[in-house]
Parts: sequence; structure tokens; C-alpha cells
Amino acid sequence: MKKKIAIVGAGPCGISVLINLLKNLSNLDISIFDINQNFCKGNSFRVDSDSLLLNTTVDTTSVFYEDRLHFFKWLNSKKDIPKKYKLKSAFVPRNLASKYLFETLNEYLLKSSEKNNNVTIFDFFLFKYDAKHTFIDTSMNEYLFKYVILCTGHTSSSINMKCKLGELSNNDGYIENSFLNINGKIHKNDNVLIIGSNLSAIDTMLLLNESKHQGKICILSKSGSLPSVRSDMGGDYIPKYLGLEGFKNETISVNHLKRLFFKELLLLTTKEDVKSYFLISKDPKIQLETDILNCIYSKNKWQVLVFSMLEILTNYWFKFSTADRILIKNKYKKIIDRFISSMPLENALLLKDYLNNGRLEITKSSHENVYYSNSKKGFLIKNKNVVYNKIIDSSPINIENKDFSSLLNSMLEVGVVKTNINRLNSLDIDNKFFKCRNDFDANSNIDAPIVYAIGPTLRNNLIVSNFFLESSRQANIITNHISTSRIPIIITGVTS
Ligand SMILES: Cc1cc2nc3c(=O)[nH]c(=O)nc-3n(C[C@H](O)[C@H](O)[C@H](O)COP(=O)(O)OP(=O)(O)OC[C@H]3O[C@@H](n4cnc5c(N)ncnc54)[C@H](O)[C@@H]3O)c2cc1C
Repeated sequence: MKKKIAIVGAGPCGISVLINLLKNLSNLDISIFDINQNFCKGNSFRVDSDSLLLNTTVDTTSVFYEDRLHFFKWLNSKKDIPKKYKLKSAFVPRNLASKYLFETLNEYLLKSSEKNNNVTIFDFFLFKYDAKHTFIDTSMNEYLFKYVILCTGHTSSSINMKCKLGELSNNDGYIENSFLNINGKIHKNDNVLIIGSNLSAIDTMLLLNESKHQGKICILSKSGSLPSVRSDMGGDYIPKYLGLEGFKNETISVNHLKRLFFKELLLLTTKEDVKSYFLISKDPKIQLETDILNCIYSKNKWQVLVFSMLEILTNYWFKFSTADRILIKNKYKKIIDRFISSMPLENALLLKDYLNNGRLEITKSSHENVYYSNSKKGFLIKNKNVVYNKIIDSSPINIENKDFSSLLNSMLEVGVVKTNINRLNSLDIDNKFFKCRNDFDANSNIDAPIVYAIGPTLRNNLIVSNFFLESSRQANIITNHISTSRIPIIITGVTS
């Protein structure tokens, strides 16, 4: 009997899962759901612009966790790709990553009949689940699945989530979800106020720059801090103390890991420099300049160490004590997130130019201090004079997906996922937590599917899922799990 699997969402995460399943398993009947325009692109890789670069280097971007250089080899097999993108340390346009996913998927789709697998692609969203364990799509078709993998990405799981900017969104000039598409919505001379200062805000900046926009830009956020800056120079460093292998057989404590981290860091740089890596200035302009200098002069091998730490955390998460895990989530999550959500040096230099020539301002404030003036026909920040014709909501949390919310809520109602789904994170995926139902235990309902939730789907406490290689790691775990779980045989009637 074929295992019936649904993948909800065909962004980088969903496609990674699909490819890993097709490569490694046989006798599968897989259905994958998403709107056509997001297929292999998802939300953040959807815009077809060469300005938007991956923030992970080529050697840390692969659909196969066990074959890190797969993307590198793919790039090098292509004649039409510029040489500068064929380096392990390169930051390549994100649209190349979606092309890579698309071609790799096709390669495995062509071979799928050899393994007796079949895949059906649906151009619909799944939006509802009912007590008969039936899934319903937006065209009211009904399905039954044994496994469901939620790869719904940057979406809110709260059905009632309102636009975070409240009243502001009711005015002309409000633009939602900027990094998806601002094409044609901004005039060359518009003054633009971007709300949020994370990666999607940087994307907005890059797209404005690409469109030869001339007006003033203000990035406004509560933290006022930009993503950190990554250089492409540190890729070749092989850690002495923080190699993954070294931790295989020991229990690990946070303090031990920290000691090794700093010991290794001091092999690479001086105590003085170390301080500057972790200091966060209150002035975003100074912070940006410090980050850029760190990138240029110390070659940022230390950033490779942050990624080594991450590998240890993700691979050996359950070797840490519960107290340590809580400590990591509460204390170190922010630092790790800052390094993961980083921008390539090239982008940082562009921002610096904008700041220096006065076209860009970064303001630490809340959108609550922004108001719309009918007389001036634009948005103003309290106590400031510039009138902004456009306001762009670049806070990713504002990406609302009602279909996913209603799907999740109906699954919660039936009890097929536990209420604490919001608290899952990608580290917990190594444990049984990610599985929302006990695996065919005696008391469980035999018809209910096993549900996995991966990627940045679930926001609270999310620690490191927000990058490509982490999706591949999770895809790998799920593949292994599905391969070892057996479909129970139900015997009905009485036999003697
Ligand atoms: C601005 C920005 C820049 C980024 N840059 C990088 C980068 O350079 N490198 C990197 O590694 N990571 C980057 N990331 C992180 C990136 O989002 C993840 O690596 C990756 O896109 C996550 O993929 P995903 O498939 O989980 O999510 P998404 O890309 O969000 O895809 C989720 C998909 O699920 C679909 N979906 C949702 N609900 C349903 C439903 N009910 N039914 C069917 N389909 C549904 C959506 O349509 C969507 O296509 C960036 C993120 C942002 C916001």
C-alpha cells in the first residue's frame, strides 16, 4: 500500500521535503498544495530580481543536508550563470535558488516511477480539516492523508490577526508585504516610509534602488537595528574545536560550548576585536559601519563559528539539559537570529551610501508615532516634517494567510494537532514534539494523520529555522521518520 502524504506549501521548505522524499523513499503517493506563482519560490524567493541576494553562501545552501555542495555543483554545471556566482563563498541572487529547486525537483520527478512514487501538484490551498479527518481545499475537493507536512512559511497561525499598522492601512499610499512586489506601486519621486528594519525592509530598499527611485526613504522600527552584515570571506575556515564530529559522543553544556567558542575565536582574532563583534550600538548608522569594517578587516571567519555553533545546537539539541535549552532559547536566540538574518556585504555598502548621501534615514520609533495628514496627503512621523507619500509595511509578521489559519484552527479543533503547536520550533523537531499525534499508539485514533510542521511556519520561540539549509535538515529528519514508521494493519472481525 502506498503511503499517502500531503505537503502543504511549495516554497523552499515544501520543495526540499518533496525532493528528499522522492530521492530516498519508494511507494509514496504525494500531493503538494500551493498557488502556482509560489511553486518552488515560496514567499521570499518569489521576486525575480537579481538585486535580491541569498544571505547564505553557496556552500551553505543545499537541498540535501548530507550533500552541502549540491547547489555549488548545480551552479557550476550551468553555462549561462556568471562566473562570480560559481564560487563556494558567493552570495547569489535568490531567483537562482528557486531555479535550482525547480530543476532538482524535475530531475527526481522524472525518476519517480522507478520508485513507484507518484506526485500530484494542486494549484489550491488546503484550508479546512474536519472530524472525519478529511482535508478540504479552496475548490472544495476532499482528501484523506496519512501524513501531513505543514510547510506554510511566513504565515500567521492566528486567524484573527489584524493588520499591525491599524488605521494607517486605510489610507491611500499604504502598501502591504513590500518585498513580494512593489513594482509599479511607487513613483520615482515618492518619499517612502518603510516600517520594519529586517530583511524584508532591506529587500524593499534594494528594489527601490533597482527601480532608480529618487525620493527620500526612512526605515522606521522599534529596534532601529538593521540585520548584521556577512562577508563572503570566511567560508573556508574549518573549526578546530567546534567541528560537529567532536560532539558526537559527549553530553554538551552551554558553558562548555561557550568556552570552546571563545577559545576558537581567539585563534582567529584579538580580544579587542571580539568585543566589537558583539557590541550593539544604539545608533544604527554606527552599527552598520562597525559591521562593515568587521567584515572587511577581520574577514569574518568568526561568523563561520556562529554557524558551527548553530550546527551543534541543531544536531545535538537533545543532548543539552532542559535548563540549557531554555537558556539558549531565552538568552542566545536573539544573538543567533541576528547572525542568521544577515545581509551580504554588498547590500550593506549600498545602504551605507544611501545613509551618507542623506537619502536614507533610520528612525527608532513605533508606527504608533506615524499619522496620516489629510491636508498634506501623506504620512508623517510625530515631530518631524518630511511627508511620505507611501508607507510600506515590511514587518514579516504581517504576512497573513487566512487559509493556513483556518486549516490550523480546524485541526486544533479536532485535536489532530495539539494546542501547543505555536511553541514548536525547529530544534524540537529532533524530538517527538514535532509529531503532533502519538505514533499509532493504542489509544490514538487510527485514521488521524501524523502531522509535521516545519520551516518558519510557527513563529513563537522559533530559533533557527529561518534559512535554507535548516529546511533541508528538517526535510531529512522527516524523510527518515516517514521511512521508518509503519502503516498499521487494521484487522476487523473475529478470527479463531
Ligand atoms: C525578506 C526575506 C529574505 C530572506 N532571505 C533568505 C536568504 O537569503 N536565504 C535563506 O536561506 N533564507 C532566507 N529567508 C528565509 C526564508 O524565508 C526561508 O529560508 C524560506 O523561504 C522558507 O521557506 P518556506 O517554504 O518554509 O516558506 P515560504 O517561502 O514562506 O513558503 C510557504 C508557502 O506555503 C504556501 N502556503 C501557505 N499556506 C498554505 C495553505 N493553507 N495551503 C497551501 N499552501 C500554503 C504559501 O503560498 C507559500 O508559497 C528570507 C526571508 C525573508 C522574509
